[in-house]
Amino acid sequence: MVKNRGKQNWLRHTVIIVIIAVSLFLINTLWLGSTAHKTVSVNESQPKVYITKSGDKYHNVSCGYLHSSSIPIGKNEAEKKGYTACSVCGGTASGTITISHKESKVVKGNAWNSQNIILNVVLAVFAAPMLYIFFCCIVEKKEKFESNKKSREI
Ligand SMILES: [Zn+2]
Repeated sequence: MVKNRGKQNWLRHTVIIVIIAVSLFLINTLWLGSTAHKTVSVNESQPKVYITKSGDKYHNVSCGYLHSSSIPIGKNEAEKKGYTACSVCGGTASGTITISHKESKVVKGNAWNSQNIILNVVLAVFAAPMLYIFFCCIVEKKEKFESNKKSREI
């Protein structure tokens, strides 16, 4: 009889943990997963200037300093990398260059990608028993407190 009751308790615990795990998974996937961050490649058009292999200046396409090497680059990109305008040609841009760079974006509606699902399953499987144990501790403490109160009242 006692053994049977123990078994039933285990079944109840397992069912509750599974329910918590499934809820956690659904909350993560449908609610949090719907505003996931994703790295996307963004194309940007910038004024085109030229740099050399060794120098730290950027130049106009017709500048004499470009005789040995000339590497096209976006003006903003060049300035970001520490290049400054050439004092001879002024580093004036000619035309535009398309630069693609990576950007972190909030993407909606990609909750069901495999990476997200695996992560959420792992999270749910680990977090559910923890949450349940934590919850049980609170209930047990409360019950103890109540019974103490009762015994004192008697
Ligand atoms: Zn120059």
